[in-house]
Amino acid sequence: MAPLRMTDRLAPVLGARTAQALEKGLGLRTVEDLLRHYPRRYAERGQLTDLGQLQVDEHVTVLARIARVDRRPYRDRRTGRNADRLEVVVTDSTGATLTLTFFKQAWRERELRVGRSGLFSGKVGSFRGSRQLTHPEYQIIAESGDEVSGDDDTVARYAGALIPVYPATAQMPSWRVASSIGLVIDQLPDDLDDPIPPETRARHGLAGLRTALVAVHRPDHRDDVARARERLRWDEAFVLQTVLAQRRASAAALPAVPRVPAAGGLLDAFDLRLPFTLTKGQVTLGDVLAADLARTHPMHRLLQGEVGSGKTVVALRAMLAVVDAGGQAALLAPTEVLAQQHHRSITRMLGPLAERGMLGGAEVSTRVELLTGSLSAARRRESLLAIASGDAGLVVGTHALLEERVSFADLALVVVDEQHRFGVEQRAALAAKSRDDSRPHVLVMTATPIPRTVAMTVFGDLEVSTLTELPAGRAAVATHVVPALERPGHLSRAWSRIVEEVAAGRQAYVVCPRIGGDAEPEEDAAADEAEAESRPPIAVLDLVAELVAGALAPVRVGVLHGRLPAEEKDDVMRRFAAGPASGDGIDVLVATTVVEVGVDVPNATVMVVMDADRFGVSQLHQLRGRVGRGEHAALCLLVTEAGPGTPARERLEAVAATADGFELARLDLEQRREGDVLGASQSGTRSSLRMLAVLRDEDVIEAARLEATDLVAADPDLAGTPALARAIAALLDEERADYLEKS
Ligand code: ADP
Ligand code: MG
Repeated sequence: MAPLRMTDRLAPVLGARTAQALEKGLGLRTVEDLLRHYPRRYAERGQLTDLGQLQVDEHVTVLARIARVDRRPYRDRRTGRNADRLEVVVTDSTGATLTLTFFKQAWRERELRVGRSGLFSGKVGSFRGSRQLTHPEYQIIAESGDEVSGDDDTVARYAGALIPVYPATAQMPSWRVASSIGLVIDQLPDDLDDPIPPETRARHGLAGLRTALVAVHRPDHRDDVARARERLRWDEAFVLQTVLAQRRASAAALPAVPRVPAAGGLLDAFDLRLPFTLTKGQVTLGDVLAADLARTHPMHRLLQGEVGSGKTVVALRAMLAVVDAGGQAALLAPTEVLAQQHHRSITRMLGPLAERGMLGGAEVSTRVELLTGSLSAARRRESLLAIASGDAGLVVGTHALLEERVSFADLALVVVDEQHRFGVEQRAALAAKSRDDSRPHVLVMTATPIPRTVAMTVFGDLEVSTLTELPAGRAAVATHVVPALERPGHLSRAWSRIVEEVAAGRQAYVVCPRIGGDAEPEEDAAADEAEAESRPPIAVLDLVAELVAGALAPVRVGVLHGRLPAEEKDDVMRRFAAGPASGDGIDVLVATTVVEVGVDVPNATVMVVMDADRFGVSQLHQLRGRVGRGEHAALCLLVTEAGPGTPARERLEAVAATADGFELARLDLEQRREGDVLGASQSGTRSSLRMLAVLRDEDVIEAARLEATDLVAADPDLAGTPALARAIAALLDEERADYLEKS
């Protein structure tokens, strides 16, 4: 018989029935799928599972000892006949118990004898207050010295002391997964193709693939498991980082027009106009971007930075540089509100520099166009024309910019602002808008600081730059948790504080998790489902009514949320930005998280977040970043009904205790599952990251990235590592399948 290959289907090896159960229940189709189905944990022979930990409704596999077996007669309601029920009580070493119930299967008494141990598997139910498994699958484990009779085929011997426990289903209990894997392992060739080249393995002391797979499925010691896992984590990191290294390499090989600005242009004029001195980080980054833009290959850079670190100015300077070099720059924002705000603030910062062709426009000047989905037909036509003619040097917009009808005279640089993932498809759409075959330079800015390794994974095809320093003279934002139930007085003090700030010429935000008004889909998935109580989250519309009639009666209150028409949103933001001095200005903005990212009103000094426990840690940090942007001391109040000591309350305390966004991002990510860390659009990772934890395994990811980069530089097509090429093809296939599923 020919040795198995990793790509072989399972049916020929295991039989059609088993193969089908593995595919249907666990999604395992090939030899490799099965071998990469790693044990969730290991039961130790003689060491019983802690039964006190079992959760109702969970599918579990436990190692337990039979403590009692009772046969009880009962009357079957359906047939009206008497029957027997077998009740087996199993126990762990702490004395906690679990009841196994079998109806009309009294014959199982023969196997289920008091004193024996076994693996029991099923869904935990609850009956009269005690936990039970009904008709569990089980396998009795032979103790040393136990007689294993030939007919007693439920009794299995495990060679090692460690019994692997697999993610399993009712049809495919853990030990059947184990025996399937055993069959496959026995037929594996000795020289299994390894995706990690031998030199890389040697450099990092990694076990070979075959050794690691055997050890993870049939370990003798915990040490074997640890070594195997280390190696298998490397597999995942290495394959992913090689894909990313290839993407970086091929993107870097594309042609781009170098954009070298002429001196004495917009950029120089803008720098002279700047009302502040650039931070060291801003200057350095400016140089980095200028160097990138001068190359004959497109820049693909991620700019991440602390909230308020001044990313926008950095991006704007790069945009002006390409205009000075004769090209156009586009800024892509995730929402209308943000696009409008960017348009307004860029126009304001540029002043006469943005008034090309207008009376009072500077000698060197350009035009800043706005393009969003909600423009009137006439304005839209006007914008499209200015973009196509090249009159508009700078274009700000939403995804509407990517539409086919939008054509640029000479698109040189695309800046993608905030959050939303900018994928391969969008890049293709943009490439189609640039001159000839060349590609525009791309700068991506993230709103939220993200830990390095996440950046390396999620944005791994980009070069990463980080702004850590905040502009000098920023007053810190004092953050406090306001416990609404324990200290109702503190909340009314918060409202009077807002009134005082407004009297002193400042402004404030009040943010709620919900719009209100009617049954609506949530505007934002801020709420933590697990902690959702019976009370609906506080809604903007309800709170506004209450505040306007009460605590905030003396001030001018505006409302902002996603359901408002675009012009109204724009008008509200404009009036809030205009501030107290303006006749129609707004002092206090009651809003949903539409103000979360990018909104920049330096005069605002108070941020009150209602039901703060419903927001994520990073989201709260973003919200807090909306204040403390000017010279005045700022205050952020996190209002919550979460009691002291609860996890929700502790998260809020953590936000109050640190101003470090990277630290908070880490905390945020630690509390989520790995899949969520990478985001839905980082598809393909569903099963490609099984062992690797992006936060925990920083060292592995970093080392794998270096190795992968070198390998791709030496052998771009991976001709020398066919197993790696195959693993990558499989990963990309899965990614494609996921993408199709979602579109
Ligand atoms: P973010 O990085 O959060 O996007 P912004 O770019 O919106 O931050 O900048 C926040 C505020 O700081 C803006 O009002 C901006 O004009 C101002 N700012 C940017 N750079 C500096 C600086 N070097 N000195 C003082 N203020 C600055
Ligand atoms: Mg910003």
